[in-house]
Amino acid sequence: ENLDKGLEKTRGDFFSKLSKAVAGKSKVDDEVLDNLEEILVTSDVGVDTTLKIIERIEARAERDKYVTTADLNRILHEEIAGLLAENQSDDVNGFTVPEDKKPYVILVVGVNGVGKTTTIGKLAAKYIAQNKKVVLGAADTFRAAAVDQLKMWGERVGAEVVSKGMNTDPSSVAFDAVKVGIDSGADVVIVDTAGRLHNKVNLMNELSKIRRVMEKVIDGVPHEVLLVLDGSTGQNAVEQARHFTKATDVTAIAVTKLDGTAKGGVVIGISDEFKIPVKYIGVGESVDHLQAFNKMEFVESLFG
Ligand code: GDP
Repeated sequence: ENLDKGLEKTRGDFFSKLSKAVAGKSKVDDEVLDNLEEILVTSDVGVDTTLKIIERIEARAERDKYVTTADLNRILHEEIAGLLAENQSDDVNGFTVPEDKKPYVILVVGVNGVGKTTTIGKLAAKYIAQNKKVVLGAADTFRAAAVDQLKMWGERVGAEVVSKGMNTDPSSVAFDAVKVGIDSGADVVIVDTAGRLHNKVNLMNELSKIRRVMEKVIDGVPHEVLLVLDGSTGQNAVEQARHFTKATDVTAIAVTKLDGTAKGGVVIGISDEFKIPVKYIGVGESVDHLQAFNKMEFVESLFG
């Protein structure tokens, strides 16, 4: 329901364009496909992924000899769900903590303003609702506001927040957070980082150092590196994903702010380009607006 509402703009935009594209036509022909291609690209699906989808529909039209425009919606549905399925997270619930990893450590990366802190707060709330103990690490030591905001979330949801003074080495905060997590018997540790993209080498060095130092506390940590992207920025989000996936091993993606934008198609392109599961989507500012990504639900909300 939240998802349907959150994707309203994308859906509305897509439908009005699609109905124009097929108006007065009964068969999916080259012209319809050309129009569809343009619609998908302008919905931020991305050029390569769009071409892949068009090719799949073309192949189907060839095989079945004839595809009606009335069937187009259902076919789009199936083809896109198929594309997303190739990269779906195993954790369909999205908020499950592996029993054998305690604490389960998540490092959260992404550019400032994309919704990192909010996503961390919402995630913490989900785990706490399952009676899990959560520790948050404020390793974005470059912005006082980021630390304050994380503390506010900590208070709101009931999670301990580990922070040090401004401009301390982020890796030392990350180290402490994992350590506090172990000592206090926490189930989940979530570490926030600064999203400074101004210099790729710096970003890479910074993230490598954080990971190296965290690994000194327990082997195999972080268990998850979650990249947060702002879906409303469309292709900018894709560009950021390119930078971050080059700088470090990203294992999961969260796409935020899908409410209030018509660029929801970007999730399809991101999933297809990076082959990293989109695990969460944000469709609003409250806790209930962070959702585990489910391909079927998503496609159904997107295309009605
Ligand atoms: P950070 O700088 O990456 O930590 O970003 P913040 O977590 O501070 O988020 C920036 C703004 O985006 C805040 O006003 C959040 O409330 C808002 N925000 C985050 N996620 C969502 C979302 O899914 N939908 C909407 N509408 N706003 C969001």
